[in-house]
Amino acid sequence: MSYNVNEKGYYGEFGGAYIPEMLYPNIEELRQNYLKITAEPSFQEEFHALLKDYVGRPTPLYYAKRLSEKFNTKIYLKREDLNHTGAHKVNNTIGQILLAQRLGKTRIIAETGAGQHGVATATVCALMGIECVVYMGEVDIARQAPNVARMKMLGAKVVPATSGSKTLKDATNEAMRDWINNPVDTHYIVGSVVGPHPYPDMVARFQAVVSEEIKWQLREKEGRSNPDYVMACVGGGSNAAGAFYHYLDEKDVKLIAVEAAGKGVDTGESAATSILGKEGIIHGSKTLLMQTHDGQITEPYSISAGLDYPGVGPMHAHLFKTGRAEFIAITDDDAMTSGLELSQLEGIIPAIETSHALAVFNYKKFKPNDVIVINLSGRGDKDLDTYIKYFKL
Ligand SMILES: *Cc1c(COP(=O)(O)O)cnc(C)c1O
Repeated sequence: MSYNVNEKGYYGEFGGAYIPEMLYPNIEELRQNYLKITAEPSFQEEFHALLKDYVGRPTPLYYAKRLSEKFNTKIYLKREDLNHTGAHKVNNTIGQILLAQRLGKTRIIAETGAGQHGVATATVCALMGIECVVYMGEVDIARQAPNVARMKMLGAKVVPATSGSKTLKDATNEAMRDWINNPVDTHYIVGSVVGPHPYPDMVARFQAVVSEEIKWQLREKEGRSNPDYVMACVGGGSNAAGAFYHYLDEKDVKLIAVEAAGKGVDTGESAATSILGKEGIIHGSKTLLMQTHDGQITEPYSISAGLDYPGVGPMHAHLFKTGRAEFIAITDDDAMTSGLELSQLEGIIPAIETSHALAVFNYKKFKPNDVIVINLSGRGDKDLDTYIKYFKL
């Protein structure tokens, strides 16, 4: 059984490239070049130099003593929250901007929901002096004002998507339309392990630096490079893909993917894609997605903007279907409580996305000698308003 992508762009039955014919040249150009370019020594050198000096990698692997004591097991936190811009997303945008430059592209487009990927994209465009256009639903622009301001400060143009529900999927449609109209000079930076092949594989490879570091860091601390569990939250699935990547074929390492149950899996206000989803096609790939009986995409809900995506990347759909990863859904309430708990036990305020992964300790029992690595995907600064309202701080 392989958990990586095959030559045709599939993870088992999931993945592929279901795209309008007009997009074919863009996707084909990427598919033919991404492995070759990213393997070049000069690419690798520049990628790793920027990750080190600009992003601040390697991020620490921190043994969380008080959290471990509370749950009577050994918990390590992979500190992606300490990256420049406050989350893992920049690992991918650095990789893609370097690829875009080598493909001769002079203009970048992206879509964003909560604004985190938009900020990570605007950041690398400023770094490289490249024009940047970010599509964002009109509703999200109103909800995520600080991130809109950040993108503008960084020199990006934020274009509102005014059709449909005026949220992420509408912004994605606008970005696709732009790319079709500007196939020669423009690269589309996708923000997670979603979209048509080769995006899921390309983004997973850029994020794989996370598990590459965990391996040597854990060897230093525990004398072995494999933990018993790796755990991460899943929106589209990129931080989890990065944390799982070098462990996919190591059967002694159990993988746990944590989704947002929202107000509860059965409430109709949820984003637990693997449990609620059925096979379908979203954003150019065959995967699991939340849909009605007649195949309309259901609007997802989570208190955490980064997890409220109606689909999941094809790698994760395959990990779910094959049972390679265990999927657990965590409610808003449980996530918020665990976010506060980490703040007070370890002095680390996590992003609400990450808080979902932390809440698993209340539901799953681990042995005292189990070594568990949690990917701490981002910091909570962006979520302070939500924490303030929820806890009446
Ligand atoms: C965007 C985001 C996520 C969810 O995206 P993935 O692609 O599933 O990683 C999780 N955590 C943080 C902090 C984010 O910004």
